[in-house]
Amino acid sequence: MTRILFFALGAVWASPYSLAGLLVGLIATPFGARPRFARDDFALIFHRFPWGPGGAMTLGNVILNTNTHLDSLCTTYAHRAGWCVEPKTRIGDHERAHVLQYMALGLLFLPLYFAHGGVSARNRFERAADRYALTGKDWWPWLEANAKPAGAKSAKTTKPDKSAKTTTTRH
Ligand SMILES: [Zn+2]
Repeated sequence: MTRILFFALGAVWASPYSLAGLLVGLIATPFGARPRFARDDFALIFHRFPWGPGGAMTLGNVILNTNTHLDSLCTTYAHRAGWCVEPKTRIGDHERAHVLQYMALGLLFLPLYFAHGGVSARNRFERAADRYALTGKDWWPWLEANAKPAGAKSAKTTKPDKSAKTTTTRH
């Protein structure tokens, strides 16, 4: 019951962003986007989203995805920055963490997201989403597990993993 209440309140709280995502998704539908509700991801996903660099972006309970599915594997931000070696993660799991973050933070999400560095390995929101995608928990950005990795400051001396290059982005 608490869980249902959390999701109902979260969906309302995140709804201004969800509405923006829905609007963009609906505009994209005549250009090929295909909406599908994914209960497990707590989101309406617009697959085949026709614009953007390739990858997925979450707005509230809406995910805009250029691919036909969310099963692609991505390197984590910390791995790509050369801070550590981590397994690849499923893009859908990463985006689900952002959905949960939106539902917890509502309108505060984007101001806080950009205040913490935007699309970057230094952003605790992205590290939390990667942590969630790796472990299935810890999507809340202010957990100790999502503090800046110890190797972060020596990023420039660490050779980036060439295999980390990917055309798939996720925010
Ligand atoms: Zn992300």
